[in-house]
Amino acid sequence: MKVAVCPGSFDPVTQGHMDIIRRAATLFDKVIVVVMTNVAKSPMFTQEERVDFIRRASAGMENVEVDCFKGLLADYARQKHATAIVKGLRALSDFEYEFQMALTNRKLNPDTETTFLTTTSEYMYLSSSLVKQVAQLGGDITGFVPDCIVDDILRKVDEIKQCERKAVK
Ligand code: ADP
Repeated sequence: MKVAVCPGSFDPVTQGHMDIIRRAATLFDKVIVVVMTNVAKSPMFTQEERVDFIRRASAGMENVEVDCFKGLLADYARQKHATAIVKGLRALSDFEYEFQMALTNRKLNPDTETTFLTTTSEYMYLSSSLVKQVAQLGGDITGFVPDCIVDDILRKVDEIKQCERKAVK
C-alpha cells in the first residue's frame, strides 16, 4: 500500500491545499494530511480547529485521513511507513524553501521521497495568509476556502476583533 503524507500548517486550509490533497488522493492508496506545528508561525486557529476544518472539507474523500503532529516530519513519515511526502508548489518563491526542506528530510529519512505537485493556475495566488488578511479586512472569502468552513473563519475573526476592542478599553 502506497501511503503519502501531505504536511502543512493549514491555518486555515484553502482551496489550493484541497486541490493538492484531491490530486494526491488519485496517485496514492492512502493520503494522510498532517497539521504540523511550525515554530516560526503563530497560528490564528488551534491545531484542533485546523484538523476539524480539513476533516469536514475532505469528508467525501475515502482514502484521505487527517492527523496532527508536533515534531519532525521525517519521523512522522517513518512512523506511518509513508512512501512520499507530497507538497504543492505555487511559484518560484516556494521553491528554495521547499528544496531545502526536501533535502533535509531525505537526510533524516531516506525512505520517504518528497514529491511536488504544481498548483492549478486558478489557485496560484492563494495562501492561508491571504485568506486571513481578506477576512480581517471584511472581504469576501467565498471561493478561497471550502464552503463548509467560511462561517468558522468569519466567527474567529469576529472573536479576535472583540478581544482587541476589550483590550483597548
Ligand atoms: P507551511 O507552513 O509548510 O508553509 P502551508 O499550510 O502554508 O504550510 O502549505 C502546505 C503546503 O501546501 C505547502 O507545500 C504549500 O506549498 C502548499 N500550498 C499552499 N497553498 C497552495 C496553493 N494555492 N496551491 C498549491 N499548493 C499550495
